[in-house]
Amino acid sequence: MTAWMWPPPVEIPERHRRKAMDDAASSYGRVLKPGQLDTSHGVVLYLDNICVSFDGFKALNNLSLSIDVGELRCVIGPNGAGKTTMMDVITGKTRADSGTAFFGQTIDLKQYSEVEIAQAGIGRKFQKPTIFEQHTVFENLELSMKADKRVRKTLFARLSSAERDRIAEMLTLVRLTDSADRLAGLLSHGQKQWLEIGMLLMQEPRLLLLDEPVAGMSDDETERTAELFLTLAGKHSLVVVEHDMAFVDKIARKVTVLHEGSVLAEGAMNEVQNDPRVIEVYLGR
Ligand code: ADP
Ligand code: MG
Repeated sequence: MTAWMWPPPVEIPERHRRKAMDDAASSYGRVLKPGQLDTSHGVVLYLDNICVSFDGFKALNNLSLSIDVGELRCVIGPNGAGKTTMMDVITGKTRADSGTAFFGQTIDLKQYSEVEIAQAGIGRKFQKPTIFEQHTVFENLELSMKADKRVRKTLFARLSSAERDRIAEMLTLVRLTDSADRLAGLLSHGQKQWLEIGMLLMQEPRLLLLDEPVAGMSDDETERTAELFLTLAGKHSLVVVEHDMAFVDKIARKVTVLHEGSVLAEGAMNEVQNDPRVIEVYLGR
């Protein structure tokens, strides 16, 4: 289309397109609702003996891990350890060859599609932000808000005051209040990352997965991101994969070290840092 258009055509990021497909699918049933999540035993995610092979190469090799409700878990490990593949399995992007993956007590993740898992309350932040660059920061948060689509169909429909308050709270949380009316495309790299985290949080995920969230951030942005994650811990369950050890040290309670597709060590940062096996495969190099 070459004709002048207003509003200008916006390229919809893949994640939002999938969301739209998901909304369409929900009218046909068989979609998990966040209310179905049963965390009565205090565990939000449970992986047991997960194996994934790519052409015979074991990217995940009997990986077992469990995340408590409200936990902020850091996952570290050398390149190729299987960190991203683990997130792919949790979110349904990659199917495990064997093993068990449960969201809460009752939701068997292996039975659901990527869109269904997202809808059930597992949010994922990829390294490259997927935001609407041609919309303002405020509009980005508005677009990602969970709302009854039958009632509020378009971006420019009236927001309720409760919805405005929620957006304002999120702007404060991700430190973008002063940039609310700026086009998202004009934000700094770090601000774009925070905006995407805010957009994910607007959907009220029960578990948030973040793959290398501070890659490419300035020291100051990294510091602010650490503060943000510490604020989120407790209210949200977070799994953070990160290479930046200073950042991990700042936010970590419990650290899981992956190596060759399995858990090599798990514990407090100082424990894993002093573990001879970890030093050998990773920190000592
Ligand atoms: P990490 O995120 O810890 O660096 P990954 O999970 O990306 O590690 O990768 C684990 C291993 O699996 C690597 O050796 C990688 O090359 C391999 N791998 C990941 N995805 C694929 C794929 N789609 N096809 C083939 N090999 C893959
Ligand atoms: Mg990776």
